Amino acid sequence: MRCLPLLIAWPFAFARSQAGVSIKEVTSKDDQFWTNSVILEGAREVMLVDAQLTRTNAERVLKEIKETHKPLSLIYITHEHADHFLGLEVFKEAYPSVRIIAGSAVLPRINKVYQEKIDKWKQLLPSDAATHVVPIDPLDGSTITFDGSHIEVLEHIQGDTDENTMLWIPEQRILVAGDVVFNDMHVYTPETDSQARRKWLSSLKTIRALQPSAVIPGHGKAAAPVDASTAVAYTEKYLLVFEEELGKAQDPTGLVEAMKRRFPSADLFLAIERGAAANVKP
Ligand SMILES: [Zn+2]
Repeated sequence: MRCLPLLIAWPFAFARSQAGVSIKEVTSKDDQFWTNSVILEGAREVMLVDAQLTRTNAERVLKEIKETHKPLSLIYITHEHADHFLGLEVFKEAYPSVRIIAGSAVLPRINKVYQEKIDKWKQLLPSDAATHVVPIDPLDGSTITFDGSHIEVLEHIQGDTDENTMLWIPEQRILVAGDVVFNDMHVYTPETDSQARRKWLSSLKTIRALQPSAVIPGHGKAAAPVDASTAVAYTEKYLLVFEEELGKAQDPTGLVEAMKRRFPSADLFLAIERGAAANVKP
């Protein structure tokens, strides 16, 4: 977990009592996912972006929220992968009146896999898996007003799915990028082909055009500093190298080995293992 001292570092930000949020990122531990949850703390309330996979990691995020001594009023889920929403029940139990939302293109995809993912993770992690489906509401429109801050929801973004979303806080120029941006992790490619990855590269151009002050990736090392460009540049390089090595690979194992050589410090091996299996054609 780390705090971004953006209210100090960003000269155009208002003090939080007037407007603006302070941001904490909590990265999952011991689940092999390194998934980021983002806590947005306003003057009176707290908002959460992405809810983790396991109960243990959701409880770690919950502990950070409780330390603000402000109620969790809103949870936003960026996309339909289980490592971003299966922990929802932990937050709903602690804050029964919390509003939980996802984009209108994302929500049916979550609902389609929710029970199936619960069943899968009950087998894999009997004591740490979600137990029941928590209802999620569709986002109404394309903006969120949270505790006086205006947040834009950027929808239909190609990332590790063809329907990722990102949150843009224009006042502070902060982008919560979800799984459009990874940092020092194998980038999750199994649901993409070359054409989708070209689109993904243009998503990264869109991010640069926003001229953010900070981009928070969906997956990254817990101690990695957050800045405007490192994670975006990393993701871009990774996707380009993936394409290059895919062209040379004889089989999935060859691609996995090549990408591990090219990105020796990257974790999240399941991303490259599944990505190679899906993309290397016999
Ligand atoms: Zn993810």
